Amino acid sequence: MLEMRPDCERCGTDLPPDSPDARICTFECTFCAACVDGPLAGVCPNCGGNFEPRPIRPAHLLEKFPASAERKGPAGSTSTSSS
Ligand SMILES: [Zn+2]
Ligand SMILES: [Zn+2]
Repeated sequence: MLEMRPDCERCGTDLPPDSPDARICTFECTFCAACVDGPLAGVCPNCGGNFEPRPIRPAHLLEKFPASAERKGPAGSTSTSSS
């Protein structure tokens, strides 16, 4: 089961469980679509693998299988960035 990490490791953008912009590699390194399609050029900087869109987790399953709350993004980053 996926951790459903809450943010982009690179820029800290919020990636909620229903976000269509979340991208993951085989180790579930988690980035936003803007980073993957832009600076990362589709290659995971941690493992060198490729990315796939992360499936959303429906709300009724989040009650039983909560998403991870452990942010991996840059320290101190908030969702104040322009989107
Ligand atoms: Zn990002
Ligand atoms: Zn990776």
